[in-house]
Amino acid sequence: MSVRIGQGYDVHAFGEGDHVMLGGVRVPHERGVTAHSDGDVVLHALCDAMLGALALGDIGIHFPPADPRWKGADSRVFLRHCNALLRERGWRVGNADVTVVCERPKVGPHAQAMRELIAGDLGIAVDAISVKATTSERMGFTGRGEGIAALAVCLLVAA
Ligand code: MG
Repeated sequence: MSVRIGQGYDVHAFGEGDHVMLGGVRVPHERGVTAHSDGDVVLHALCDAMLGALALGDIGIHFPPADPRWKGADSRVFLRHCNALLRERGWRVGNADVTVVCERPKVGPHAQAMRELIAGDLGIAVDAISVKATTSERMGFTGRGEGIAALAVCLLVAA
């Protein structure tokens, strides 16, 4: 098989703080997120998509929330680790597409910076990474501003 596909989904509740980490970018916001790591839903969803593509489990298996090593962890460490796992198996990310779901903060102004960071960490071209956003029209937990969610799909190709 020369391609593999994976999908991922992640949610974090808003909590105390003055910023959220999204795609490795510090985005100013009047709330933070409740998380063991830095709570980066973009990178967590993407990691799960990458792991899922090779049926390697999920981010919780590779980086257990109970493990003190990952307290406050920079999620780019997770991303690079997941990338190493697939590279050593002969794969690389062909492309990935991430959708952030929230009413606020505004994601658009930061999307290009996220794309560049992610592409750099994966060692692939920026145009292979898409980051976009939508609201949920004020419905549900994202619509009420209780938390932030992200969905990701990625295609792996033989390296
Ligand atoms: Mg998470």
